[in-house]
Amino acid sequence: MIEIVLASSNSHKVEEINSIANKHGINFIKVQEGFDPVENGTTFFENSFVKARTASKLMGRYALADDAGLCVDALGGRPGIYSARYANSQSEKISKLLNELKDVSDENRGAMFVCSMVLTDPAGNILHHTMGVCDGKIAFAPYGDGGFGYDPIFMVDGLGITMAQLSLEEKNSLSHRAKALLPMLEWIKDNL
Ligand code: IMP
Repeated sequence: MIEIVLASSNSHKVEEINSIANKHGINFIKVQEGFDPVENGTTFFENSFVKARTASKLMGRYALADDAGLCVDALGGRPGIYSARYANSQSEKISKLLNELKDVSDENRGAMFVCSMVLTDPAGNILHHTMGVCDGKIAFAPYGDGGFGYDPIFMVDGLGITMAQLSLEEKNSLSHRAKALLPMLEWIKDNL
């Protein structure tokens, strides 16, 4: 099994990614205490690179980082890279976003989840980069209790239900994170 550091202190994320990666013979381990990257990039790519490089330098190992967020058409792509910092709690993020879109009609509520992944070598140099996108639109109210973050108000294109109404397996088959992760795992298997 190839072992790679996941540049995230979120145990839930390590488990979610390992549920896909372990089937490919790759295991991710949590980054050690003291991981505190300065996420001052202006793009998802830059922030994922900063996180991966920081984890590689801290642990002297290969590291994978992701950076994700929700980009809403009617808000010019906001909250985008600021999705995590858009409001304090998840419920406040959802009510703030619904309020910002209260006068926006159904056909203008397009949005996409974006995920950037970067793999760095033990010295912190970039080895590979992938992007995944999931298209949808913002619902008028939250539905479902699965997933996390903005999932309850993200209607997945072609499904007519929100991301929070999908099982974890269903979300993993179409999410922005899965779409970035699968080609990354293939690259790791072929090159490390
Ligand atoms: P991170 O870079 O994966 O930590 O994501 C940053 C923020 O984007 C999270 O705090 C969530 O608010 C939002 N986000 C990212 N991925 C998802 C998702 O799959 N569902 C819902 N919200 C997400």
